[in-house]
Amino acid sequence: MLLLNRLKALLKTFALFINSLPRRHFFALILLLIFLLILLFIPGKKSGKKTIKRQLELPPISVSSDDYPVAEPIAAVKEVYGEVFPDFSGNREVQIEIKAGDTLSDIFQKEGLSAAQLQELLEVDKQYLRLGNLLPGQKVKLLISADSKLLALKVMIDLANTLTFTLKDDQYISLLETKKGEWRNSVFQGSVTGSFYLDAKEAGLSAGQIQQVSSVLQDKFDFNRQLRFGDSFHVLVAKQYIDGEYSEDSEVLAIMIKTRRQNYTAFLSEDGRYYGQDGLGLNKAYRRFPFNQKYRISSSFNPRRLHPITKRISPHNGTDFAAPIGTKIYSVGDGVVARAGYHPAAGNYIVIKHGRKYTTRFLHLSKIYVRQGQRVEMGHLIGRTGNTGRSTGAHLHYEFHVYDRPVNAMKVNLPLSKEVPKDQMKAFVQRRDLFLKEMGQEII
Ligand SMILES: [Zn+2]
Repeated sequence: MLLLNRLKALLKTFALFINSLPRRHFFALILLLIFLLILLFIPGKKSGKKTIKRQLELPPISVSSDDYPVAEPIAAVKEVYGEVFPDFSGNREVQIEIKAGDTLSDIFQKEGLSAAQLQELLEVDKQYLRLGNLLPGQKVKLLISADSKLLALKVMIDLANTLTFTLKDDQYISLLETKKGEWRNSVFQGSVTGSFYLDAKEAGLSAGQIQQVSSVLQDKFDFNRQLRFGDSFHVLVAKQYIDGEYSEDSEVLAIMIKTRRQNYTAFLSEDGRYYGQDGLGLNKAYRRFPFNQKYRISSSFNPRRLHPITKRISPHNGTDFAAPIGTKIYSVGDGVVARAGYHPAAGNYIVIKHGRKYTTRFLHLSKIYVRQGQRVEMGHLIGRTGNTGRSTGAHLHYEFHVYDRPVNAMKVNLPLSKEVPKDQMKAFVQRRDLFLKEMGQEII
């Protein structure tokens, strides 16, 4: 009570003092107070921002806060950063090896990272579609600041690919590093003793490669009925090696089946399609639209599109079709399903590889009818349109990539003709003869 009374008295005196001040002095006092407050707060904010910026430029040296000051000689740090030292205090690096069932959302929760940051990251990942379903064995690295901000995320996708997201000026920028590795050709040959599948397996071809061989020649040749004991086969396969290790990525370059009556040949052209020795197409030609009907384009391919809210450049890598939910989607060419699944931003999606050169992608689907690794032909029903993921209405987002770069699917120069175009015939013949030489074979 006594304390309260004293405080009251003090306040009264203070009020009297303020009241007794001339007006000008009163305002000067207020201004001084405001100035002091600004001095207190502004530099604090500024230095905070600076710290984060410097942390972003971390080269790959250890940033774990426990061992940093001891382990890194100052001179070495100076060499890397110049005179400006980064502030490592509080940053932590987390390394995770993905186990079956792990999701990025679980990892974020465990590390105390916000759902908003995860959303931003997934939005950027729409161009890669890699964070939707992480695979067992993949390694993930996170760099997290003391105030639970994700500064960087690195995913080792496979032997060849590493994907990095880095926070810069409040947004995530991404980088996909792909090791080209080395493509080496091998010849697999054998003679038929019973089933082509078993003989080809015996010769060293994988199940996928054998399937590819029979699918390429299926319109010309019946492997079950037309093969006889003693017939022979030669298959040229390109295999990718990363740092000396087989990446499981391969491509059938050339096929020759020799029967008593006739030889059957197939050669992979630069355009991802197979042609006979005379340049006649063995696969169906590509088609422009993934539908059987025409639908209005609601948003075109636009690499320089400005985001309506942030006004930042956020490319539209595909063509949007205003197709009602449930519209059937067909593969535009022969290929293999590289990935299919769910992604929080892209919704249900399908990625199809058409040889090494072309890739197509279908986003926001309601239904997926294919699975990873499945071979599809042009016109194969792969799914149905929908409105899943972050989507503003029923539509199909359709992407076409050439050597992993998105291009305008409505304008890209597609191999639409049945045989090798005249202006590419010379290159095709050169390639064909090179493959034949590698197989030790000649055209009869
Ligand atoms: Zn779109």
